Amino acid sequence: MTSATLARRLSKAEALLHEREQRRFTAACDAVKRDLTDEQRKIADAWWEGRREDLDGIAPCSGKHRRIGFCERCITEANPPALLRAMWALVMWHMQDGTPTVLPVEVAQVYVEDPDAWPLRRCEGCRYLLPEQARLCADGTFRVIARYSGTCPSCGLDSREGEEIAG
Ligand SMILES: [Zn+2]
Ligand SMILES: [Zn+2]
Repeated sequence: MTSATLARRLSKAEALLHEREQRRFTAACDAVKRDLTDEQRKIADAWWEGRREDLDGIAPCSGKHRRIGFCERCITEANPPALLRAMWALVMWHMQDGTPTVLPVEVAQVYVEDPDAWPLRRCEGCRYLLPEQARLCADGTFRVIARYSGTCPSCGLDSREGEEIAG
């Protein structure tokens, strides 16, 4: 194979990869929106109003962005409502390591009612990111305040088993 042929093949492979990534991204965005109530959707939509012009997806932070154009820091810097923040994070983690993207009404409602809820806690069964009440520290780490107990919306594992949080 000549190097020109190889280059052509590689760029074709890359284009296909981008296309597939784009489809995955769109599917993940649809998945986190799918189960929301109209009321919940409005929260996300209201935040976007007037921002569409300057943000293509989300304004990038100064960090490095691979594959998708935003990272965890972009999300915290954009400072959207907790529900939208969770939707974004679920999409981001899905793109990075394939975590599930479901967001049923009752889990979405946790984010609506608690501005300090973040999708932080990995389910031991499927690695879905369950909500935790936490404070974002200046160094970018989280201090967990409380856990939401219950069944994982993705795999059904009961997160209450054998769990105690040290205060
Ligand atoms: Zn970023
Ligand atoms: Zn799970």
